[in-house]
Order: sequence, then C-alpha cells, then structure tokens
Amino acid sequence: MCGIVGYIGNKKACPILIAGLTRLEYRGYDSAGVSTIEKNGLSLMKTKGRVKNLNDLKGIDKLEGTIGIAHTRWATHGKPSNENSHPHQDNSKTFSVVHNGIIENYAELKNLLEEKGYHFYSQTDTEVIPNLIHYYFLKDKEDNSTMKFLKAVRNACLDLKGSFAIEVISSYFPDNMIVVRKDSPLVIGTCENEKYISSDIPAILSYTRDFYLLNNLEFTILSKNSAKFFDTELNEIKKKLDVIEWNSSAAEKDGYDDFMLKEIYEQPSAVRETIGSRISNDLKCEIEELKFSKKQLQEITKIYIVACGTAMHAGLSGKNTIEKICRIPTEVDIASEFRYRDPIIDKNTLCIFISQSGETADTIAALKLAKSKGATTLAISNVIGSSITREADYSIYTHAGPEIAVASTKAYTSQVALINIIAIYFAEILQSTKSEYLNFLKQELLSLPKKIEETLKCKDQIFEFAKKVYQEKDMFFLGRGVDETVAKEGSLKLKEISYIHSESYAAGELKHGPIALIENGITVVGIMTDENLVEKTVSNIQEVITRGAKTLIITNQKINYNNFNEVIIIPEIAPFISPILSVIPLQLLSYFISKEKGLDVDKPRNLAKSVTVE
Ligand code: GLU
Repeated sequence: MCGIVGYIGNKKACPILIAGLTRLEYRGYDSAGVSTIEKNGLSLMKTKGRVKNLNDLKGIDKLEGTIGIAHTRWATHGKPSNENSHPHQDNSKTFSVVHNGIIENYAELKNLLEEKGYHFYSQTDTEVIPNLIHYYFLKDKEDNSTMKFLKAVRNACLDLKGSFAIEVISSYFPDNMIVVRKDSPLVIGTCENEKYISSDIPAILSYTRDFYLLNNLEFTILSKNSAKFFDTELNEIKKKLDVIEWNSSAAEKDGYDDFMLKEIYEQPSAVRETIGSRISNDLKCEIEELKFSKKQLQEITKIYIVACGTAMHAGLSGKNTIEKICRIPTEVDIASEFRYRDPIIDKNTLCIFISQSGETADTIAALKLAKSKGATTLAISNVIGSSITREADYSIYTHAGPEIAVASTKAYTSQVALINIIAIYFAEILQSTKSEYLNFLKQELLSLPKKIEETLKCKDQIFEFAKKVYQEKDMFFLGRGVDETVAKEGSLKLKEISYIHSESYAAGELKHGPIALIENGITVVGIMTDENLVEKTVSNIQEVITRGAKTLIITNQKINYNNFNEVIIIPEIAPFISPILSVIPLQLLSYFISKEKGLDVDKPRNLAKSVTVE
C-alpha cells in the first residue's frame, strides 16, 4: 500500500522527494504531500490527486529545506481528500508524520487524545500518530535531545496496534529524522552526507545501492551523515549494510520477476490486513463499517452476492458460509446477468457486491438496480472511495493493497476472508450458530497468514509439474462443495494467463456429460479439502484416471496418495476458508505455465485490470 519517501542531506529535499514519489506512482495513488524543515519551521503541502497535482501547487518550488518527508496515499481510512492526505501534523504543528499502513486501534487512541484536549482535522487513522508523539514529548520533562525525540516516537509506536511505516520530522530537531516500521515496508539508502528513505527500493535506487533494510520496530535516528538504530528498550543495535544488485525494473517488483508473483507472495500480509482488528486475539468479531441490529438481520429473507469473474468466485465461497452459519438463503449472480434478469428483490433483500477496483461497470449497474428496488446494499472493494463504495448503503474494504497484475490473486483471497468475517458477524448477531463453532472459525481465520506462508512452500513442486504440462491444450478442474468454487477460480486463472483451454466442474457432475472429453494423457486437477466430501471426490477422480487422465491433487485430507501423479499437501483448515489456501497452488500453476510458454504474465492478451465497460 502507498509509498513514502524521505531525504536528509545538503541538497534541496523537495525535488528529490517528488522524483521519488513519481517513481512509485505505478502503484496508483490517490493523493500526495510533502513536509520539509524550513528556516521558519515545518512546511506542509499536500493535495488530493496525483503527484503531478502536488508538483503544480503554488509555492512548492520555494521550499528550500534539506530535510523532508513525502507520501503518496492509498487511502484506507477516510476518502481521498486534501485534509486526509499525508503528511499529518500534531495540533502544535511541531511534528510532521507520513504513515503507510493501518492503525487498528486509532478510534480508541483518538478518544483518549480528545479527552486530553487534542483536536482532529481528518478522518484518517494516521492523525493519532503525530499527536501521540507530541503528547509523550511534552510529558517527558527532560531537556530536549534527540533521545527525548526518539523516546516520544517509541512510546507512541508502542501504543499502536496494526501496521505502520512512519517517518517523523520535528521543528525542534532541524538536523534529524526518525523512521520506524512494523509490518509495512521501509528501507534506508545511504551515501556520503545523504540519507534516502523509501517504502520501496526503486524510488531511490538511482541515488545509491547501499541500503539498511529495517526489521520490525527498529527505531532509527537519521542525520545526513549517520544512521543509528535502537530496539524497543532504546538500546543501540548494529545493522549491516546490504548492497542491492537489482536493476530498476526488478526493484519495482521487489526483486520478483512479475507483479503477479509478488502479489501471490503478498497474500500472508494482505489477508492479515483484511482481518485487521475485525477479529481480535480474544476472538471478538467487530466490523466497524457495519451496524446491523438483530431485528434488521432477522428481516433479511434473501441475500444476493453479485460480482464478475474472480470476485464472483469469492462470492460463491461466501455463499457456502453464509447459508451454513447464518441460515439465510443466498444466491450468487453474475453482475451482467443479474442486471437484465429482473431479479426478485424487495426491502427484505440484502445485496452484496464485490469488486476489487470498485469500478466494474456491470457491478455498478447491478448495484443501482438493487437500490432502486429497495434492497439493502453492501459493497466489498479494495479501493477506498471507488464507485461501488460511494453508491452502496454499507462499504467494507479488503485492505489488500494495490493489485497491479491483471490476474487477481491477493484480492481474491482477501475477499474470501472478508466475506467469511461478514458471515461470522451476522451469525453472531443472529445467534444462528453455536458460539463455540464461530470461535473456532475465528481462530482458523487468525491462523491464515502463517498457513498461507506454509502453503507457498509448494512452489518448487508446482514449478516441476508446470514444466511437464505447459504444452497441453485442455485441462480440467474438479471439486465438490467449496472446492468446486476453487476449481472455477483455478480454471479461470489458467485461461487468463496461460491461454490453455480449461473447464471446471462439480466433481459429481462429470459423468453426466463432460467425462466424454476425458482421454489419454489429459490433465485433471482435483481439489479436496472437505472431509465430508473427500471420498466422493476421490471416486470421481478415479473415474478419470481409469480413462487415462493424469492427476494433480490439492488436499489436506488423508487419502491414498499413490493413486495420483502429483499431490500437493496444504495445511489443515476449516472447509469454509480453505479456498484461501487451496487456490494458491493453482495460482502458482497458472503462473509457471505462463512463464514456461514465454507469455506476459502481468498483462495477458485481451484483458484489462478494471472492466469499466459493459
Ligand atoms: N491508513 C492511512 C490512511 O488511510 C495510510 C494509508 C496508506 O498506507 O497510504 O491515510
């Protein structure tokens, strides 16, 4: 999510900061800003829109300061606007801060600070940070020193829950900057008499190849010719310098060959952000954006989940959970069909719309239709302030971070996680499922980031399999229940980026026709994660093996592996959320097949990232 840049040296900071932001703009930002230390205190210039809008601001060329921080925002809390743009300052305008990430307990901290007399001027979670720093700075009665500055930043950070990479400058300390990160990226580039800070290496790679790569909660005081690192107890620690050998295009992708691969690997953190504070460690489920009463939910007689493509597949897995634990009839519809088929909707209908970009034309039209028929509407999107979120009665964000590759990966897994959280939230209010089971599901969701990491270890095995099958013309994906929804997504991914024809079927449906297509040597992928259905699916796979198919199995069940050509074992997980794990080998399979065929993985032919036409 978003990008931050910092500079401290002998040159004018502002042009360097703007050049850095421009290099990061490929990620698609919604506002930009800078703060520098000038002779008369801190400057602050920020605006909604692109970096170009910032560069066009009157007076920006007058900034002379040689220390500064800058930000391109990818809004998570508060719509893109001038006030919500970063940097943010404390009430006395002594500290300027840029932040990348999400402060999950910002509402609580904001209340505490308001009780102490602080005022807030934006809707962001970030604005608590400079005010907390100011609060701790004033509370400390020692004389001003960089250690006092550091202590205030450290105390503030220890109060924050969530993820953050921050840069802080202060008018009291015109020669210093403090930076720290937790679960959001931040690197420091160093050369003689200069320090460059960035959330991504490429923005500053043209200045230096010598980097300090910060670990979580390593507090850093920078001056133009020094970088000192401290742990949370403020003991000084030594860090080694890393020399970055990448070329600049590899650097934009953090060293990955393609955005798609990078995004596949970002899934542990993307899903972690989606869960955020919605499920706490003590297993409370709260969705800040939703305020449903029991009566309101009891009146809902029908739910439609409406979306296109991959988002629709996330909806299909959501249907399973909602029906099972909320006991509300739920239908999943393709937006381009829904809008023209006169669906039966009234005021007791809840319509959920899912779109990564929030700009999918068919989904927007379907949402308008549902509203006009009196339904309650809920939008799920990855982009703050996008069209569907402006239109719907309720909007919830996946917080997966920008997705650049056309083929969706981390947006899908975040959508599946979010829709499961919504189902749990409804079930808890409706008391439609035993709390023990809901708590089990919550624990399973919290375990996801780690289990996704474990699942990603199948990479080499999938790579070897891809090398064997990349020249094939057809493939089949089979599963039952929630596994069928993953079969659909796996098949779509393969079509999208490898141009191999593929079909997905409910495993039990095969013998009603499609089995006629199975012939010697054809590849069939079977997904089996539900212990109640695994034996049935094994039988169906056996039927295709008998007819000459070779098989790739994705499972976490105890089955006789010898029957199959390749078996990928994924961690055990509750079936409702298993798509988040079982889809990963299929994402990697499509990716490696596409690479073997020498195709452009990130920009497959005929496709666009955000489908804004009918
Ligand atoms: N959560 C912060 C905001 O919405 C920072 C978002 C970002 O990483 O750009 O302003």
